[in-house]
Amino acid sequence: MATLDHYCSTDELPRHDNCPEVAESWCEWRKAETTNTLAAFKHPPRLIDEHVEKHIRPVYEDLSKDELITSMAYLAVKSLQRLADEEQSKFPVAAHIA
Ligand SMILES: [Zn+2]
Repeated sequence: MATLDHYCSTDELPRHDNCPEVAESWCEWRKAETTNTLAAFKHPPRLIDEHVEKHIRPVYEDLSKDELITSMAYLAVKSLQRLADEEQSKFPVAAHIA
C-alpha cells in the first residue's frame, strides 16, 4: 500500500505513513522529513489520479492481504523443494557428498 499511497499524495493530502522513515528512503517526502526540509517540499503532479486510484486500490488491498502473501511464500518454498529434489534425483552421488 505504501507505493499506491505515495503516488497518490499531494501537497494538500500527503500520504506517506507507510513509506520508509530513513534518510536513504526512496520516498523524497520522507527524506525531506528526516532532513527537516519538509516545509519547502513540493509534491510532483499526482502520478495516479483519483479516477484510476478508485479502481486499483481494491486490487492493491487484495494483493496485500497476509493470507495471500503467506500462501505465495508457501508455494515458493514448495517449488524450491521440488526443484531441489529433482536435481538430487538427477545427480544422486552429489546428494551423498552434500
Ligand atoms: Zn512517500
